[in-house]
Amino acid sequence: MNSTQQEGSSLLKDLERIKKKTRISNKIINGQLDQIIAEIEEAKINNDFSQLKDKLQNQKPLTKIKQTYNECYAYFSKMGKNMDKLFKKNLQYGQEHVELDSRVLTELIKNHLLRDGEFEAYELLVKESGSEESHFHQFFAEIQTIVKDLKERKLESAILWAEKRHKRSPSNLLYELLKQRVIQLVQTEGINAAVNFMRNSDSFQEQAQGRLYEICLITYSVLLWPNLENTKYYYLYDDERNWPRILNLFLEVASKSQNILIKSEIRTVFSAGCLAMPKLIKYNQITRNRSSEVLTNDIPIDIEIGKDYKYHSFFVCPVSREVTNTDNPPVLLKCGHVISKLSAHKMIANKQKFKCPTCPVETKGADLPELIFI
Ligand SMILES: [Zn+2]
Repeated sequence: MNSTQQEGSSLLKDLERIKKKTRISNKIINGQLDQIIAEIEEAKINNDFSQLKDKLQNQKPLTKIKQTYNECYAYFSKMGKNMDKLFKKNLQYGQEHVELDSRVLTELIKNHLLRDGEFEAYELLVKESGSEESHFHQFFAEIQTIVKDLKERKLESAILWAEKRHKRSPSNLLYELLKQRVIQLVQTEGINAAVNFMRNSDSFQEQAQGRLYEICLITYSVLLWPNLENTKYYYLYDDERNWPRILNLFLEVASKSQNILIKSEIRTVFSAGCLAMPKLIKYNQITRNRSSEVLTNDIPIDIEIGKDYKYHSFFVCPVSREVTNTDNPPVLLKCGHVISKLSAHKMIANKQKFKCPTCPVETKGADLPELIFI
């Protein structure tokens, strides 16, 4: 078990203790409350409230409740202190020498709020930060409405959105939405409604062109409905799989239409930061006392955080370890490996051909194709 796991397990133990304590406390508190109610009920039945005050004062139910609350709070407070002890001090090391650009940060938070549909919070932030209205505001407002509809399995708004954009930037989305509409009609209004939709919807007719095989599958499935289990058409009616898939496809196409990432940038940065933090802390702890260390934004160690967080927005030459740019772009070698143009020129020097730094394949000449990362 490594140190992070140990820290985690000690917190889990704290949490278990809190859960146990809360269960017992709830029992005690409910018991005391029941007793108060019972005493009041009894007094009411006997129409004699003269003893009630004394009885309640003797039993001290409120004092017992307060005491139980205090005991519970002590457990919470202990866990909070443990968390501070375990993480707070460490995190400082991880973020040393990092200067956050408040303007960039505000933009990131604004976009994040818009993505999550937190429009009120977004507007407040725009006002308080004195920044400009994001040109994504209207886009995200529309997207949020459609996402909400899709989650409620309503397709109309998404179909309308896709129809408007399909001619400009064709994608699979419109067809997938219309197909889902057919399936939904079969499930809710019956076969006739589905067949009518397929016949009368201009969009469906248009999308069906060139998709003969798939249309045949849908038509056969309609004929067999509802006895589809264990047939090859069942996947068409697998709602648990199809609705999330359609929602994801919609988000993907919508993000692409604005050239933005499908996931919130700030959430991605946060998740990537959590993965990188242990190594960053270690690195900063080791180097913080070395006065000779040159502090730059680049970290001289590789931090592997998984392929989900790789975007290829820049390329580091494996020979010179420099980030490529328009003056020194990445070039493709014969074997498929990539290095920077300057490194390639240095390696060629006056020779006819040179060996790839990664594999034994030789590449001829200096006129190598440049790669453009988008
Ligand atoms: Zn190679």
